[in-house]
Amino acid sequence: MMGKSHVIKPLLNKEYPTVSYGRGVYLYDIEGKAYLDGCSGAVTANIGHGVQSVIDAMNEQAKKVSFTYRSQFTSEAAEALAAKLASWTPGDLDYVFFVNSGSEATETAMKIAIQYWQEQGRINKNKILSRWMSYHGITLGALSMSGHILRRKRFIPLLEEYPSIEPPYCYRCPFNSTYPSCDLLCANQLEQAIHRIGADNIAAFIAEPIIGASAGAVTPPPYYYQRIKEICERHDILFIADEVMTGNGRTGKPFGINHWDVVPDLMALGKGMGAGYTPMAAAIASKRIIDVIAAGSQSIMSGHTFSANPQSAAVSLAVMQYMEDNQLIAKSEERGLQLLSGLQTLMQKYEIIGDVRGKGLLCGIEFVKNRTTKETFPLSLGVTERVIAKAMNNGLLIYNASGGIDGQAGDSVIVAPPFTISEEEVNELLFILDQSIRELI
Ligand code: PLP
Repeated sequence: MMGKSHVIKPLLNKEYPTVSYGRGVYLYDIEGKAYLDGCSGAVTANIGHGVQSVIDAMNEQAKKVSFTYRSQFTSEAAEALAAKLASWTPGDLDYVFFVNSGSEATETAMKIAIQYWQEQGRINKNKILSRWMSYHGITLGALSMSGHILRRKRFIPLLEEYPSIEPPYCYRCPFNSTYPSCDLLCANQLEQAIHRIGADNIAAFIAEPIIGASAGAVTPPPYYYQRIKEICERHDILFIADEVMTGNGRTGKPFGINHWDVVPDLMALGKGMGAGYTPMAAAIASKRIIDVIAAGSQSIMSGHTFSANPQSAAVSLAVMQYMEDNQLIAKSEERGLQLLSGLQTLMQKYEIIGDVRGKGLLCGIEFVKNRTTKETFPLSLGVTERVIAKAMNNGLLIYNASGGIDGQAGDSVIVAPPFTISEEEVNELLFILDQSIRELI
Protein backbone atom coordinates (compact mmCIF):
# COMPACT_ATOMS: atom_id res chain seq x y z
CA MET A 1 0.00 0.00 0.00
CA MET A 2 1.06 3.58 -0.57
CA GLY A 3 3.16 5.13 2.14
CA LYS A 4 3.38 8.74 3.31
CA SER A 5 4.63 10.33 0.05
CA HIS A 6 2.17 12.57 -1.79
CA VAL A 7 4.06 12.33 -5.08
CA ILE A 8 2.46 10.00 -7.62
CA LYS A 9 5.38 7.88 -8.80
CA PRO A 10 5.53 5.42 -11.73
CA LEU A 11 4.82 2.43 -9.46
CA LEU A 12 2.54 3.46 -6.62
CA ASN A 13 3.66 0.83 -4.14
CA LYS A 14 7.39 0.95 -4.84
CA GLU A 15 9.91 2.86 -2.75
CA TYR A 16 12.26 5.14 -4.70
CA PRO A 17 15.54 6.54 -3.43
CA THR A 18 15.54 10.30 -2.81
CA VAL A 19 18.10 12.12 -4.92
CA SER A 20 20.36 14.61 -3.21
CA TYR A 21 22.59 16.05 -5.96
CA GLY A 22 24.30 15.32 -9.28
CA ARG A 23 27.88 15.92 -10.41
CA GLY A 24 29.23 14.95 -13.83
CA VAL A 25 27.95 11.50 -14.75
CA TYR A 26 26.96 10.59 -11.18
CA LEU A 27 23.82 11.10 -9.11
CA TYR A 28 23.89 10.79 -5.31
CA ASP A 29 20.96 9.92 -3.06
CA ILE A 30 20.41 11.28 0.45
CA GLU A 31 22.01 8.14 1.92
CA GLY A 32 25.21 9.07 0.04
CA LYS A 33 24.98 6.21 -2.48
CA ALA A 34 26.41 7.05 -5.94
CA TYR A 35 24.72 6.02 -9.20
CA LEU A 36 26.52 6.16 -12.52
CA ASP A 37 23.92 7.76 -14.82
CA GLY A 38 24.25 5.21 -17.62
CA CYS A 39 21.10 6.43 -19.41
CA SER A 40 21.15 10.19 -18.74
CA GLY A 41 17.86 9.73 -16.86
CA ALA A 42 15.47 9.27 -19.77
CA VAL A 43 18.24 9.82 -22.39
CA THR A 44 18.12 13.49 -21.47
CA ALA A 45 21.00 14.66 -19.24
CA ASN A 46 23.31 14.78 -22.27
CA ILE A 47 25.95 17.07 -20.74
CA GLY A 48 25.95 15.51 -17.27
CA HIS A 49 24.93 17.11 -14.00
CA GLY A 50 25.95 20.36 -12.34
CA VAL A 51 27.49 22.21 -15.33
CA GLN A 52 28.42 25.64 -13.98
CA SER A 53 28.03 27.68 -17.19
CA VAL A 54 24.44 26.46 -17.53
CA ILE A 55 23.68 27.28 -13.89
CA ASP A 56 25.19 30.75 -14.45
CA ALA A 57 23.05 31.32 -17.57
CA MET A 58 20.00 30.25 -15.55
CA ASN A 59 20.78 32.82 -12.84
CA GLU A 60 21.60 35.61 -15.28
CA GLN A 61 18.36 35.18 -17.20
CA ALA A 62 16.33 34.94 -13.97
CA LYS A 63 17.78 38.31 -12.93
CA LYS A 64 16.53 39.85 -16.21
CA VAL A 65 13.15 38.18 -16.78
CA SER A 66 11.99 34.57 -16.48
CA PHE A 67 8.64 34.64 -18.19
CA THR A 68 7.07 36.53 -21.04
CA TYR A 69 4.17 35.35 -23.17
CA ARG A 70 4.78 34.50 -26.82
CA SER A 71 1.90 36.60 -28.16
CA GLN A 72 3.33 39.69 -26.42
CA PHE A 73 7.12 39.45 -26.68
CA THR A 74 9.96 37.61 -28.29
CA SER A 75 13.24 37.54 -26.35
CA GLU A 76 16.94 37.70 -27.10
CA ALA A 77 17.32 34.25 -25.55
CA ALA A 78 14.62 32.63 -27.73
CA GLU A 79 15.94 34.37 -30.87
CA ALA A 80 19.51 33.27 -30.18
CA LEU A 81 18.44 29.71 -29.42
CA ALA A 82 16.38 29.44 -32.63
CA ALA A 83 19.31 30.80 -34.66
CA LYS A 84 21.70 28.32 -33.00
CA LEU A 85 19.33 25.43 -33.74
CA ALA A 86 18.99 26.55 -37.36
CA SER A 87 22.78 26.44 -37.66
CA TRP A 88 22.77 22.79 -36.47
CA THR A 89 19.82 21.46 -38.50
CA PRO A 90 20.23 20.11 -42.03
CA GLY A 91 18.91 21.88 -45.15
CA ASP A 92 16.35 24.63 -44.71
CA LEU A 93 14.94 23.40 -41.38
CA ASP A 94 15.29 26.91 -40.05
CA TYR A 95 12.05 27.83 -38.25
CA VAL A 96 11.54 26.85 -34.63
CA PHE A 97 8.28 26.49 -32.71
CA PHE A 98 9.18 26.13 -29.04
CA VAL A 99 7.23 23.80 -26.75
CA ASN A 100 7.95 22.06 -23.43
CA SER A 101 8.09 18.31 -24.01
CA GLY A 102 8.75 15.77 -26.73
CA SER A 103 5.06 14.86 -26.89
CA GLU A 104 4.15 18.49 -27.56
CA ALA A 105 6.91 18.66 -30.19
CA THR A 106 5.63 15.68 -32.21
CA GLU A 107 2.02 16.83 -31.86
CA THR A 108 2.94 20.33 -33.00
CA ALA A 109 4.83 18.90 -35.99
CA MET A 110 1.75 16.83 -36.82
CA LYS A 111 -0.49 19.91 -36.65
CA ILE A 112 1.88 22.02 -38.77
CA ALA A 113 1.90 19.26 -41.42
CA ILE A 114 -1.91 19.15 -41.54
CA GLN A 115 -2.15 22.93 -41.62
CA TYR A 116 0.40 23.15 -44.45
CA TRP A 117 -1.94 21.17 -46.72
CA GLN A 118 -5.08 22.96 -45.48
CA GLU A 119 -3.58 26.33 -46.40
CA GLN A 120 -3.30 25.03 -49.97
CA GLY A 121 -6.92 23.88 -50.04
CA ARG A 122 -6.03 20.19 -49.66
CA ILE A 123 -8.19 19.64 -46.61
CA ASN A 124 -8.39 15.85 -46.83
CA LYS A 125 -4.64 15.48 -46.43
CA ASN A 126 -4.88 15.03 -42.67
CA LYS A 127 -3.74 11.50 -41.78
CA ILE A 128 -0.34 10.81 -40.30
CA LEU A 129 1.33 7.50 -41.14
CA SER A 130 3.72 5.90 -38.70
CA ARG A 131 5.36 2.60 -37.78
CA TRP A 132 4.65 -0.11 -35.27
CA MET A 133 7.30 -0.32 -32.50
CA SER A 134 7.59 3.44 -32.29
CA TYR A 135 7.08 6.05 -29.59
CA HIS A 136 6.17 9.67 -30.27
CA GLY A 137 4.76 10.72 -26.92
CA ILE A 138 2.09 10.17 -24.30
CA THR A 139 -0.51 12.87 -25.08
CA LEU A 140 -3.37 11.57 -27.21
CA GLY A 141 -2.26 12.99 -30.58
CA ALA A 142 1.30 11.78 -30.07
CA LEU A 143 0.11 8.43 -28.71
CA SER A 144 -2.14 8.00 -31.76
CA MET A 145 0.96 8.04 -33.94
CA SER A 146 2.88 5.71 -31.60
CA GLY A 147 3.24 1.98 -32.13
CA HIS A 148 4.12 1.28 -28.49
CA ILE A 149 1.58 -1.40 -27.57
CA LEU A 150 1.92 -1.14 -23.79
CA ARG A 151 1.41 2.63 -23.71
CA ARG A 152 -1.47 2.58 -26.25
CA LYS A 153 -3.61 -0.25 -25.07
CA ARG A 154 -5.63 1.44 -22.31
CA PHE A 155 -6.60 4.34 -24.57
CA ILE A 156 -7.30 2.68 -27.89
CA PRO A 157 -10.90 4.04 -28.15
CA LEU A 158 -9.50 7.59 -27.93
CA LEU A 159 -6.73 7.19 -30.50
CA GLU A 160 -7.27 8.50 -34.02
CA GLU A 161 -4.51 6.90 -36.02
CA TYR A 162 -3.02 3.45 -36.19
CA PRO A 163 0.56 2.86 -37.20
CA SER A 164 0.48 1.51 -40.72
CA ILE A 165 3.86 -0.05 -41.44
CA GLU A 166 6.38 -2.45 -39.87
CA PRO A 167 9.58 -1.21 -38.24
CA PRO A 168 13.03 -1.58 -39.86
CA TYR A 169 13.95 -4.21 -37.28
CA CYS A 170 16.66 -6.28 -38.96
CA TYR A 171 17.37 -8.49 -35.92
CA ARG A 172 13.79 -9.82 -36.15
CA CYS A 173 12.86 -8.85 -39.69
CA PRO A 174 9.04 -8.61 -39.90
CA PHE A 175 9.33 -9.97 -43.45
CA ASN A 176 11.73 -12.84 -42.54
CA SER A 177 14.23 -11.37 -44.94
CA THR A 178 17.82 -10.15 -44.78
CA TYR A 179 19.45 -6.88 -45.77
CA PRO A 180 20.47 -6.08 -48.53
CA SER A 181 18.72 -8.83 -50.51
CA CYS A 182 15.39 -7.68 -48.96
CA ASP A 183 15.63 -4.50 -51.05
CA LEU A 184 14.23 -2.63 -48.03
CA LEU A 185 10.82 -4.29 -47.96
CA CYS A 186 10.13 -2.40 -44.72
CA ALA A 187 10.54 0.97 -46.45
CA ASN A 188 8.64 -0.16 -49.55
CA GLN A 189 5.70 -1.01 -47.32
CA LEU A 190 5.16 2.74 -46.92
CA GLU A 191 4.27 2.93 -50.59
CA GLN A 192 1.74 0.10 -50.20
CA ALA A 193 0.15 1.93 -47.24
CA ILE A 194 -0.05 5.11 -49.31
CA HIS A 195 -1.78 3.25 -52.14
CA ARG A 196 -4.24 1.73 -49.66
CA ILE A 197 -5.11 4.95 -47.83
CA GLY A 198 -4.66 7.34 -50.73
CA ALA A 199 -2.01 10.07 -50.90
CA ASP A 200 -4.80 12.67 -51.01
CA ASN A 201 -5.69 11.68 -47.44
CA ILE A 202 -2.17 11.70 -45.98
CA ALA A 203 -0.37 14.72 -44.56
CA ALA A 204 2.86 13.16 -43.32
CA PHE A 205 4.87 10.13 -42.28
CA ILE A 206 6.62 10.26 -38.89
CA ALA A 207 9.53 8.11 -37.68
CA GLU A 208 12.26 8.09 -35.05
CA PRO A 209 15.55 7.85 -37.00
CA ILE A 210 16.72 5.23 -34.48
CA ILE A 211 13.94 3.48 -32.55
CA GLY A 212 14.23 4.30 -28.85
CA ALA A 213 11.75 3.65 -26.07
CA SER A 214 9.85 0.78 -27.69
CA ALA A 215 12.75 -1.49 -28.61
CA GLY A 216 16.16 -0.15 -27.60
CA ALA A 217 18.20 1.66 -30.25
CA VAL A 218 16.97 -0.33 -33.25
CA THR A 219 18.98 1.11 -36.12
CA PRO A 220 17.59 0.94 -39.68
CA PRO A 221 19.87 -0.35 -42.45
CA PRO A 222 21.74 1.92 -44.88
CA TYR A 223 19.57 3.73 -47.45
CA TYR A 224 16.37 3.11 -45.46
CA TYR A 225 15.56 6.80 -45.00
CA GLN A 226 16.69 7.73 -48.48
CA ARG A 227 14.03 5.29 -49.75
CA ILE A 228 11.42 6.62 -47.28
CA LYS A 229 12.08 10.22 -48.30
CA GLU A 230 11.93 9.37 -51.98
CA ILE A 231 8.54 7.64 -51.51
CA CYS A 232 7.21 10.58 -49.47
CA GLU A 233 8.31 13.12 -52.07
CA ARG A 234 6.86 11.16 -54.95
CA HIS A 235 3.45 11.14 -53.23
CA ASP A 236 3.47 14.70 -51.86
CA ILE A 237 3.70 13.54 -48.25
CA LEU A 238 5.79 15.36 -45.63
CA PHE A 239 8.45 13.48 -43.68
CA ILE A 240 8.64 14.26 -39.95
CA ALA A 241 11.80 13.08 -38.16
CA ASP A 242 11.08 12.55 -34.48
CA GLU A 243 14.51 13.45 -33.10
CA VAL A 244 13.31 13.81 -29.50
CA MET A 245 15.70 11.06 -28.40
CA THR A 246 18.18 10.97 -31.28
CA GLY A 247 18.65 14.74 -31.70
CA ASN A 248 21.13 17.20 -30.20
CA GLY A 249 24.19 15.02 -30.66
CA ARG A 250 22.99 11.81 -29.01
CA THR A 251 24.00 9.51 -31.90
CA GLY A 252 27.40 11.09 -32.60
CA LYS A 253 26.02 13.49 -35.22
CA PRO A 254 23.87 16.59 -34.61
CA PHE A 255 20.72 14.64 -35.53
CA GLY A 256 20.02 10.94 -36.03
CA ILE A 257 18.81 11.50 -39.59
CA ASN A 258 22.26 12.88 -40.53
CA HIS A 259 23.48 9.26 -40.61
CA TRP A 260 21.29 8.76 -43.70
CA ASP A 261 21.99 12.18 -45.19
CA VAL A 262 18.31 12.99 -45.59
CA VAL A 263 16.62 16.36 -44.95
CA PRO A 264 13.18 15.94 -43.36
CA ASP A 265 10.39 18.52 -43.84
CA LEU A 266 9.75 18.77 -40.11
CA MET A 267 11.67 17.72 -37.02
CA ALA A 268 10.65 17.23 -33.38
CA LEU A 269 13.23 17.85 -30.65
CA GLY A 270 13.09 17.51 -26.86
CA LYS A 271 15.08 15.71 -24.17
CA GLY A 272 18.71 16.77 -24.91
CA MET A 273 17.68 20.30 -25.94
CA GLY A 274 17.53 21.41 -22.34
CA ALA A 275 19.57 18.38 -21.23
CA GLY A 276 17.41 18.17 -18.10
CA TYR A 277 18.31 21.68 -16.92
CA THR A 278 14.93 22.93 -18.09
CA PRO A 279 11.86 21.55 -19.86
CA MET A 280 12.41 22.54 -23.49
CA ALA A 281 11.40 21.06 -26.83
CA ALA A 282 10.65 22.23 -30.35
CA ALA A 283 9.01 21.49 -33.67
CA ILE A 284 11.27 22.69 -36.46
CA ALA A 285 9.85 23.43 -39.89
CA SER A 286 11.45 24.00 -43.27
CA LYS A 287 11.21 27.39 -44.97
CA ARG A 288 8.93 25.95 -47.65
CA ILE A 289 6.33 25.05 -45.01
CA ILE A 290 6.53 28.33 -43.12
CA ASP A 291 6.30 30.33 -46.38
CA VAL A 292 2.99 28.64 -47.23
CA ILE A 293 1.50 29.39 -43.80
CA ALA A 294 2.89 32.96 -43.81
CA ALA A 295 1.22 33.56 -47.16
CA GLY A 296 -2.04 32.05 -45.89
CA SER A 297 -3.58 32.25 -42.42
CA GLN A 298 -0.26 33.55 -41.00
CA SER A 299 -0.62 31.67 -37.75
CA ILE A 300 0.20 28.15 -36.63
CA MET A 301 -2.73 26.85 -34.63
CA SER A 302 -0.81 25.52 -31.65
CA GLY A 303 1.16 26.82 -28.67
CA HIS A 304 1.48 26.57 -24.92
CA THR A 305 1.68 29.05 -22.07
CA PHE A 306 5.36 28.34 -21.54
CA SER A 307 6.34 28.17 -25.24
CA ALA A 308 9.55 30.13 -25.92
CA ASN A 309 9.81 31.43 -22.37
CA PRO A 310 13.11 33.32 -21.98
CA GLN A 311 14.21 31.36 -18.91
CA SER A 312 14.17 27.96 -20.62
CA ALA A 313 15.52 29.43 -23.85
CA ALA A 314 18.57 30.92 -22.07
CA VAL A 315 19.29 27.62 -20.34
CA SER A 316 18.90 25.61 -23.51
CA LEU A 317 21.17 28.02 -25.39
CA ALA A 318 23.84 27.59 -22.68
CA VAL A 319 23.54 23.80 -23.07
CA MET A 320 24.16 24.04 -26.83
CA GLN A 321 27.03 26.48 -26.27
CA TYR A 322 28.62 24.10 -23.76
CA MET A 323 28.31 21.26 -26.28
CA GLU A 324 30.03 23.34 -28.96
CA ASP A 325 32.80 24.58 -26.64
CA ASN A 326 33.59 21.02 -25.52
CA GLN A 327 33.07 19.24 -28.88
CA LEU A 328 30.55 16.97 -27.24
CA ILE A 329 29.06 15.59 -30.46
CA ALA A 330 32.47 14.20 -31.44
CA LYS A 331 32.82 12.83 -27.89
CA SER A 332 29.43 11.12 -28.22
CA GLU A 333 30.71 9.39 -31.34
CA GLU A 334 34.07 8.43 -29.81
CA ARG A 335 32.80 7.16 -26.45
CA GLY A 336 29.90 5.50 -28.30
CA LEU A 337 32.35 3.32 -30.24
CA GLN A 338 34.03 2.31 -26.98
CA LEU A 339 30.66 1.53 -25.37
CA LEU A 340 29.35 -0.51 -28.31
CA SER A 341 32.52 -2.56 -28.51
CA GLY A 342 32.32 -3.20 -24.73
CA LEU A 343 28.71 -4.34 -25.13
CA GLN A 344 29.75 -6.65 -27.98
CA THR A 345 32.30 -8.23 -25.61
CA LEU A 346 29.54 -8.73 -23.03
CA MET A 347 27.41 -10.38 -25.73
CA GLN A 348 30.16 -12.90 -26.39
CA LYS A 349 30.22 -13.69 -22.68
CA TYR A 350 26.48 -14.01 -22.01
CA GLU A 351 24.09 -16.20 -24.08
CA ILE A 352 21.21 -14.16 -22.69
CA ILE A 353 22.26 -11.18 -24.82
CA GLY A 354 20.75 -11.63 -28.28
CA ASP A 355 21.72 -8.33 -29.87
CA VAL A 356 23.56 -5.09 -29.18
CA ARG A 357 23.17 -2.08 -31.47
CA GLY A 358 23.01 1.67 -31.78
CA LYS A 359 24.97 4.72 -32.84
CA GLY A 360 27.01 7.17 -30.79
CA LEU A 361 25.92 7.12 -27.17
CA LEU A 362 22.52 5.61 -27.93
CA CYS A 363 23.09 1.89 -27.47
CA GLY A 364 20.60 -0.93 -26.97
CA ILE A 365 20.83 -4.45 -25.55
CA GLU A 366 18.19 -7.07 -26.31
CA PHE A 367 17.91 -10.06 -23.98
CA VAL A 368 16.73 -13.45 -25.25
CA LYS A 369 15.91 -16.84 -23.78
CA ASN A 370 17.64 -18.61 -26.63
CA ARG A 371 20.23 -16.86 -28.73
CA THR A 372 20.03 -19.33 -31.64
CA THR A 373 16.26 -19.23 -32.04
CA LYS A 374 15.97 -15.64 -30.73
CA GLU A 375 13.12 -16.85 -28.51
CA THR A 376 12.07 -14.08 -26.14
CA PHE A 377 11.45 -14.39 -22.43
CA PRO A 378 7.77 -14.09 -21.52
CA LEU A 379 7.22 -10.46 -20.53
CA SER A 380 5.61 -11.67 -17.31
CA LEU A 381 9.10 -12.79 -16.18
CA GLY A 382 10.12 -9.13 -16.09
CA VAL A 383 13.69 -9.73 -17.28
CA THR A 384 14.17 -6.07 -18.28
CA GLU A 385 12.95 -4.83 -14.91
CA ARG A 386 15.19 -7.33 -13.13
CA VAL A 387 18.33 -6.29 -15.03
CA ILE A 388 17.53 -2.63 -14.33
CA ALA A 389 16.97 -3.36 -10.62
CA LYS A 390 20.24 -5.32 -10.32
CA ALA A 391 22.15 -2.54 -12.05
CA MET A 392 20.59 0.12 -9.86
CA ASN A 393 21.42 -1.87 -6.77
CA ASN A 394 25.02 -2.00 -8.02
CA GLY A 395 25.03 1.76 -8.65
CA LEU A 396 24.25 1.96 -12.38
CA LEU A 397 21.19 3.47 -14.08
CA ILE A 398 19.95 1.99 -17.39
CA TYR A 399 16.69 2.65 -19.28
CA ASN A 400 13.73 0.35 -19.93
CA ALA A 401 13.02 0.04 -23.66
CA SER A 402 10.71 -2.97 -23.75
CA GLY A 403 7.69 -2.13 -25.86
CA GLY A 404 5.44 -4.76 -24.35
CA ILE A 405 4.96 -6.91 -27.45
CA ASP A 406 4.99 -10.40 -26.01
CA GLY A 407 6.84 -12.85 -28.25
CA GLN A 408 7.67 -10.28 -30.93
CA ALA A 409 10.27 -7.95 -29.48
CA GLY A 410 12.54 -9.02 -26.72
CA ASP A 411 13.39 -7.44 -23.41
CA SER A 412 15.45 -4.38 -24.23
CA VAL A 413 17.35 -1.70 -22.35
CA ILE A 414 19.04 1.48 -23.49
CA VAL A 415 22.52 2.44 -22.36
CA ALA A 416 23.04 6.14 -23.06
CA PRO A 417 25.31 7.99 -20.63
CA PRO A 418 26.05 11.75 -20.84
CA PHE A 419 28.49 12.75 -23.63
CA THR A 420 30.88 14.01 -20.96
CA ILE A 421 31.60 10.46 -19.77
CA SER A 422 35.32 9.62 -19.68
CA GLU A 423 37.01 6.49 -21.01
CA GLU A 424 37.47 5.20 -17.44
CA GLU A 425 33.84 5.87 -16.60
CA VAL A 426 32.68 3.89 -19.67
CA ASN A 427 34.82 1.00 -18.39
CA GLU A 428 33.23 1.33 -14.97
CA LEU A 429 29.75 1.32 -16.57
CA LEU A 430 30.61 -1.88 -18.46
CA PHE A 431 32.04 -3.47 -15.33
CA ILE A 432 28.86 -2.86 -13.31
CA LEU A 433 26.68 -4.03 -16.20
CA ASP A 434 28.72 -7.24 -16.45
CA GLN A 435 28.32 -7.84 -12.72
CA SER A 436 24.56 -7.15 -12.88
CA ILE A 437 23.96 -9.57 -15.79
CA ARG A 438 26.08 -12.22 -14.04
CA GLU A 439 23.87 -11.87 -10.94
CA LEU A 440 20.74 -12.26 -13.07
CA ILE A 441 21.57 -15.63 -14.68
N1 PLP B 1 9.44 11.03 -29.13
C1 PLP B 1 10.43 10.18 -28.80
C2 PLP B 1 11.26 9.58 -29.89
C3 PLP B 1 10.68 9.87 -27.47
O1 PLP B 1 11.67 9.01 -27.16
C4 PLP B 1 9.89 10.48 -26.47
C5 PLP B 1 10.12 10.16 -25.04
O2 PLP B 1 10.71 9.17 -24.69
C6 PLP B 1 8.88 11.37 -26.85
C7 PLP B 1 8.68 11.64 -28.20
C8 PLP B 1 8.01 12.05 -25.81
O3 PLP B 1 8.76 12.98 -25.11
P1 PLP B 1 8.27 13.52 -23.68
O4 PLP B 1 8.36 12.38 -22.73
O5 PLP B 1 9.22 14.64 -23.38
O6 PLP B 1 6.88 14.02 -23.85
